[in-house]
Amino acid sequence: MKDKINELLERVENFRPKAVAEIEDFRVRILGRKGELTALMEEFKSVAPELKREFGQKLNELKRRAQERVAALRAEAEQAAGEASSQIADMSRPGSEEELGSRHPISLVRNQIVEVFARLGYTVADGPEIEDDWHVFSALNFPPEHPARDMQDTFFIGKNPDVLLRTHTSSIQVRTMERQQPPIRVICPGRVFRNEAISYRAHCIFHQIEGLYIDEGVSFADMKQSILYFAKEIFGEETTIRMRPSYFPFTEPSAEVDVSCNLCGGKGCNVCKGTGWLEIMGCGMVDPNVLEACGIDSKRYSGFAFGMGVERIAMLKYGVRDLRLYFENDVRFLRQFESAL
Ligand SMILES: [Zn+2]
Repeated sequence: MKDKINELLERVENFRPKAVAEIEDFRVRILGRKGELTALMEEFKSVAPELKREFGQKLNELKRRAQERVAALRAEAEQAAGEASSQIADMSRPGSEEELGSRHPISLVRNQIVEVFARLGYTVADGPEIEDDWHVFSALNFPPEHPARDMQDTFFIGKNPDVLLRTHTSSIQVRTMERQQPPIRVICPGRVFRNEAISYRAHCIFHQIEGLYIDEGVSFADMKQSILYFAKEIFGEETTIRMRPSYFPFTEPSAEVDVSCNLCGGKGCNVCKGTGWLEIMGCGMVDPNVLEACGIDSKRYSGFAFGMGVERIAMLKYGVRDLRLYFENDVRFLRQFESAL
């Protein structure tokens, strides 16, 4: 009988169920009314009186261990079931809604413009927002009395007139020319700062993209073709451009570029103010004085530069009427760009 008790005790200790149902089977087989332990209890009745004490203790011990084992296995199975249900859950339940983030429209348009020029072989150049007079004005052929240097237009930092916030990203072009000999083909995106009253069409901070191409024999025709390619890529294949004579200190000759209005197809509407044309950028052949100021031989090299406001392009592309919307971080405005990549 002693062997039977030990053998059963061993089986209780080593029992490892493969399924939850086996735990109940096990309980019934050992502890049930017709179970093995109950059979041993019956057998115990006929044990010699002098052995009753020892066997009695052993049987009680076996019963306790078997009950503990069943309780422990049940708890384990319940915990595992809980974890599994939280992992798998109900596969047919609707998912929780994820908030979809989006790029700011200014970033979207800047990236598109950079990407178009990257296809033409332009690389992106960067420069500081806090500049000096040389890189923003003097090297770019601004005469000393030019109004852009005035406090009215430029933010100076402190009392030193040589520390200022750049008013255009042309300063990056100057830094590029100082660093590098032609061929140069760079695109310079960045924030610029002007002391202007904030309105639906002007802001004191805005974003520019300027481009510069310098090599031997670069002509006005090259510039026109590059800008036409850009206009078609951004505003659509049907887009045409026209150039009007203009003036900038750093280019000669200079021009303003208009694109055909993509809203009315050139017939005239309230966005293009009935003209059929939309102004998008300024451009021109780099003034030889600028090349020389930056250490580039103006007799050997020529080039063109162009610059545009990213806000302006984004307004035309998306039909936004008020520039201030770009700066207010109103999610009702920004959500409209969610689907754009
Ligand atoms: Zn129009």
